[in-house]
Amino acid sequence: MLTPAVTRESSHPVRLDLAAPASGSRRPLFGLDAEVLAAHMEKIGQSAWRGQQLAHALYRQWVTEIDEISTLPRKVRRALAGEGWTVDRPQIVQVFRSVDGTERYLIKCQNGNREQVPNPPPDSSAETVETVWMPDGDGGEAGDSSDGLEMQPAARASSEGEATKMRNASSAPGLAAVLPVRQRKTWTRATICVSSQVGCAVNCQFCLTARLGLQRNLNAGEIAGQVVAVMARHGVQPGRDRLNLVFMGMGEPFLNYDAFMAAVRLLVHEVGLSPQRMTVSTSGIVPGIERFAQEPPELRPKLAISLNAPNDAIRSAIMPINGKWPIQAVMDAVRPMRLRPHERITFEYVLLGGVTDRPEHAREVARLVRRSGLPAKVNLIAWNPGPGLDYAMPSAESVDVFQEILAVAGVPVYLRQPRGRDIYAACGQLKRTIEE
Ligand code: SAH
Ligand code: SF4
Repeated sequence: MLTPAVTRESSHPVRLDLAAPASGSRRPLFGLDAEVLAAHMEKIGQSAWRGQQLAHALYRQWVTEIDEISTLPRKVRRALAGEGWTVDRPQIVQVFRSVDGTERYLIKCQNGNREQVPNPPPDSSAETVETVWMPDGDGGEAGDSSDGLEMQPAARASSEGEATKMRNASSAPGLAAVLPVRQRKTWTRATICVSSQVGCAVNCQFCLTARLGLQRNLNAGEIAGQVVAVMARHGVQPGRDRLNLVFMGMGEPFLNYDAFMAAVRLLVHEVGLSPQRMTVSTSGIVPGIERFAQEPPELRPKLAISLNAPNDAIRSAIMPINGKWPIQAVMDAVRPMRLRPHERITFEYVLLGGVTDRPEHAREVARLVRRSGLPAKVNLIAWNPGPGLDYAMPSAESVDVFQEILAVAGVPVYLRQPRGRDIYAACGQLKRTIEE
């Protein structure tokens, strides 16, 4: 069953409530944009530009405590703290490191603006979310040259608090130190895989995250905060480093549309990342795609659609959502989107051994993509196994043949490298940890 359907209204910046909290509750600053922070500064008798300073401290310097905001006079910091404000940026609480350098994190969200589900699970699993760091990427973000623009220059990031806490992290697979890594930078580009919900309601039969059901939506600060927490750990500098974001972690971004897009705006305007280096993946939520197609190109990530099957019959069997929004409806929703120069729509395609990986499936996918008339490419993903999932990995030969058939048919095709399978960080494997 699906959760609240997305509405068709175009998205507006989320105005977070600045009213006084119920006694004892915290008021997180992280997640508020510069405009809202400026308004609050004026409300407490300060100049609006103090809000800019606050935003800079939160999103460019990555402070974790109000007291670290050295640009604000002490009396202003005290006034904020006195009103119950805290930074409350999501924090990495557990790190799993793969032999291939991938890291999977459990990130604790302390955000008081959190949206609660009616029946929260008895354990604390809804408190943490999973995020993945892939030095050098996995190919999921690759495939066209539309991300050619550089990221907006940003101030050199530094966090005194975090720097002094640094210690070496283990290079062995498995559990690694939580604190920021102090090692020579070995990556030239990196990709962060970001979650938009805890769990997922879209019941795809091959996906481990689906087994959790939807536990709760994340808010904008919790989504953007995953990125900032990982950037802080690795000392990523937006003006210098080539960082891609893929919204392909836990959850269905288009069933949490407003928070997802508010997070994108924070990441673009406040953190200084380029939307051309961001890709959002959807299982095919048509009202969400229709809204997304209307977003201004300067704020819109690239779009990936999880096609995963050559026709409606197979797709409905592995993705029940196809019963509601079949392939043609998804294609029609994508069509009005104005693409940037060289931009392509990505069709993701999970190869399930014996189910979706046959040569005749490849020929059907090629026809489907070409008939759609969309500038498109196909990203093949060999299925990653998970406990209780009754599918088989495709053979190396069937993957080769599939790729070859698409290529010969003139469809641009890429093969995603499985990253971090040993630590359950690969596609569709997130949230293994809470079952252990
Ligand atoms: N909910 C969104 C984004 C998260 S899933 C979506 O479905 O698009 C990101 C990608 O991982 C999707 O393309 C999905 O089809 C794929 N995926 C899910 N489980 C997988 C698995 N076990 N092995 C390989 N890919 C998987
Ligand atoms: Fe949800 Fe995506 Fe997994 Fe489907 S593949 S259950 S939409 S996370």
